[in-house]
Amino acid sequence: MHYTGTCHCGAVAFAFEAQLDELVRCDCSLCGKRNALMATVAKDRFRIVRGEQALRLYRWNSGVALHYFCATCGIYVYHQRRSNPALLSVNACCIDGFDTEALPLRRVDGKSMSVVAGAVP
Ligand SMILES: [Zn+2]
Repeated sequence: MHYTGTCHCGAVAFAFEAQLDELVRCDCSLCGKRNALMATVAKDRFRIVRGEQALRLYRWNSGVALHYFCATCGIYVYHQRRSNPALLSVNACCIDGFDTEALPLRRVDGKSMSVVAGAVP
């Protein structure tokens, strides 16, 4: 299926192709604070349609995962995973007309996976 979405202010717009059969919630310290509900999307099926320059990059812990958010409205848009850089997690709440209650939720134990020596988990 083809999906589109935006951040809150609309500066950033994206589109992707995916067969979404679940959403993911992670309990690491970052996902917990941003209350992230995420869809898994192949990196090569995702593109930023508008506002590439409005995105800001946040890296933490191991610094491998790339977390992008809108510099204007602060909304988390997507991130490139540490565990598999070919996969993105896209903020399901940013997808246009998407019912986040319609798919099963998979809980990821990011709290224990994300601990890197010397870093805040
Ligand atoms: Zn925005």
